Amino acid sequence: MESVPSGVYPTKSLQDTVGVATVARLIREQKATRIRRGWIAVGNAPQDQVLAVRRGGVLSCMSALKRQGVWVPEDINLHVRGNQWAVRNRKGPFCRRFGRPEPEYGAMDDIPTALTYAARCLDAEGFVVVCDSLLHLKLMSFAEIEHLFGSAPDSLQRLLGRLDARAESGPESMMRFRLQSKNVDLEIQVEIDGVGRVDMLIGQWLIIEIDGYEYHGGKPMFTKDRLRFAAAHNLGYTPLGFSYEQVVFDQAATLDRIMTAIRNGAHRRPSQLAKPTPLRPGMGL
Ligand SMILES: [Zn+2]
Repeated sequence: MESVPSGVYPTKSLQDTVGVATVARLIREQKATRIRRGWIAVGNAPQDQVLAVRRGGVLSCMSALKRQGVWVPEDINLHVRGNQWAVRNRKGPFCRRFGRPEPEYGAMDDIPTALTYAARCLDAEGFVVVCDSLLHLKLMSFAEIEHLFGSAPDSLQRLLGRLDARAESGPESMMRFRLQSKNVDLEIQVEIDGVGRVDMLIGQWLIIEIDGYEYHGGKPMFTKDRLRFAAAHNLGYTPLGFSYEQVVFDQAATLDRIMTAIRNGAHRRPSQLAKPTPLRPGMGL
């Protein structure tokens, strides 16, 4: 007897794959349920896809990207694009995209399709952050993204010039975008002798480190970060570190701390905490 993996399927394509009799049996045995005309949920199907299909669409946009491992800004909404009928009958809210809507082909959009919808749901910063994540994870190439938005409005095409595949986390991309939007000149992923690779270097002396993940790497990581900061201080740098929460949920205060450091000239001159390496008695002289 045919076994069908859990999931949400267009009934027709499931019937074509496993046969009409098998689908009928699954329904009879309550292993599958019709969730909308033409759609069926089998076994322990993902709830977000069930909800999207029940609402009259498919899982798309930020929700589909997140499901497929892409870093997306925090958002509690389920992002669904509706089919023609549901849109006409105002069953939304539904996500939209530039250009013609795509027909439904599965309960969850693939990454390129989901991205075309996300481009209209996200603000400029969110769009850049999501594209950075796609590039960094090698889920799409720059050329593919560029091609996808070939006929999008100029404002969106201009944002493509701000993508950076080197950004290692969503929060890092967010912070870079905000600082560059304030015309702060910075380099990312800079290797500094005696410190290691830092997330950002502003001017010559101001280091910004961002915890890219919700859960910090535990005590060994914390200790390592402290040692790196101490090393940076001793070399004359001013290192500022921010947690995931500070960047994502407390944007204004975090940006303000960096801008204050810049106003104070921390990027232009060595920190006053810098100490010349003390000579130990009896050494070298
Ligand atoms: Zn959306």
